[in-house]
Amino acid sequence: MFEWTRSETLGLAKHTCTQCFGLGLRAGRNGKSVPCGCVLRAVFRACFKRFRYCATKEKHMSRASLEFTGGREKRFTWSRKDEEYVADFCLVGRRHLSAEEYRVFKYHFLLGADWKLCCRQLKMERGNFFHMVYRIETQLGHVFRELEPYSLYPLDEYFGTAPRWRIDGPNEPRPKVQAIPVFATRRGFTPPLRKAA
Ligand SMILES: [Zn+2]
Repeated sequence: MFEWTRSETLGLAKHTCTQCFGLGLRAGRNGKSVPCGCVLRAVFRACFKRFRYCATKEKHMSRASLEFTGGREKRFTWSRKDEEYVADFCLVGRRHLSAEEYRVFKYHFLLGADWKLCCRQLKMERGNFFHMVYRIETQLGHVFRELEPYSLYPLDEYFGTAPRWRIDGPNEPRPKVQAIPVFATRRGFTPPLRKAA
C-alpha cells in the first residue's frame, strides 16, 4: 500500500494552506496521515504542465528511449515516452472521473477551452465549473501519484531519468541488473543507430 511521506509532501504543500499549515499531511481516519488537497493539486499541476509540453511539441522532437522493463527476463524496450505519457494522462482521466467530470476534464484540460467557453458549451454555472475543476485536480493528483505499477508522478521516474526502485522505498533491494545496454549482453543485436562514417 502506498504511503505518503512528509519529506515528499513538504516540498509540494502550499505554505499558506489552512488545512495542513504547509506540512502537506493531515490526520485522516484511523489516525492515519493522508495527503492534503494542496499537495494533490500540486501533483496534478506538475503532470498537466508536462502533458501540455508533450502534447504541443513537434513530433520529430520526441525521442525514443531505451527502457529497462525489469521483470524476470530483465528486458529492454524502445519506447516513445512522450506519446506514452500523453496517452496515460488522458486514459487516467477517463478511467477515474465520472462522466460529468470527464467532460470538463476533456474540454478544459485536454482541449484547452477557458472557463467561459466551458460554461457556455457545458451549460454550467461559473461556481460549479470551478468547484469541479478543483475536484478533478485533487482526484487525479491522487491517482497520478499512487497509480500502480508505474505512477505518472514523480515525472523524472516516469520518464526514466531516475531509477524506478526509488519508488519502492529504501528497503527494497536494488535490482542486480542495472542499465547494461542490451546490445552488450545479447549477441547479434544491432541498436538502431546510424553507422559512423
Ligand atoms: Zn495543504
